[in-house]
Amino acid sequence: MSAATRNLLRVQAIVLKPRCVLCDCDGMTVPAMDLCADCYRDLPRLTDGCAVCARPAVGDAMICGSCQNNPPPFEWVIAPYRYAWPIDKMLQQFKFGGNLAMGRVLGRLLAHHLTSIRRRTSMPAMTEPAIIIPVPLHRRRLWQRGFNQAGELARTIGLIMPVHIRSELCVRVRNTPAQSGKRAEERHKNVRKAFALRRKTVPERIVIIDDVMTTGSTCAELARTFKSQGTRQVLVWCLARA
Ligand SMILES: [Zn+2]
Ligand SMILES: [Zn+2]
Repeated sequence: MSAATRNLLRVQAIVLKPRCVLCDCDGMTVPAMDLCADCYRDLPRLTDGCAVCARPAVGDAMICGSCQNNPPPFEWVIAPYRYAWPIDKMLQQFKFGGNLAMGRVLGRLLAHHLTSIRRRTSMPAMTEPAIIIPVPLHRRRLWQRGFNQAGELARTIGLIMPVHIRSELCVRVRNTPAQSGKRAEERHKNVRKAFALRRKTVPERIVIIDDVMTTGSTCAELARTFKSQGTRQVLVWCLARA
């Protein structure tokens, strides 16, 4: 091996050495996650969510009061994390800072959680390849941001799990104002008739992908849109639940 090659290999080893995206250490990283073991362990896992909508802290009830009194149009929300530090920060860097590498870390975290559920369940909704619909952005918002965060998460999931990404089935026809800062009732009104289907026939079962679920009104509206056309079961996979 020539001295030049040796030098090149040394430079590559430094450049390619995985570093934790949160604390920048180069210690033990969780394989393929770009996170060190400490940062990974400290992520805000959601362990006490509602069995239907994943709303945090429902205690022994299993199903939250809201889902009991007024069942949502989706059957099951899977969300591995609470929308808390540092997941909130990572999502903001991804969405508003255009940090697509961070988006891939988040996508892998979600996929990792989904794969672990798949191993433990026999539910066809989880074991068969899912038809996934990333929550569509209005074309104007897409143009401003340059990418759809839900679409990016779906793409990373698709590299890890067998899924069919069917973004073309649905569009966002209303450029609804941002949901943040709005109360639940306003959010609900804000997204009414926001989506339109582009095909007459819809899949029997779909999975909606979103980055963060707050009141759930966006996913509910999208689920209603598909169900009005004949979809029977809707799951939601999102990274974080507020
Ligand atoms: Zn770290
Ligand atoms: Zn609930």
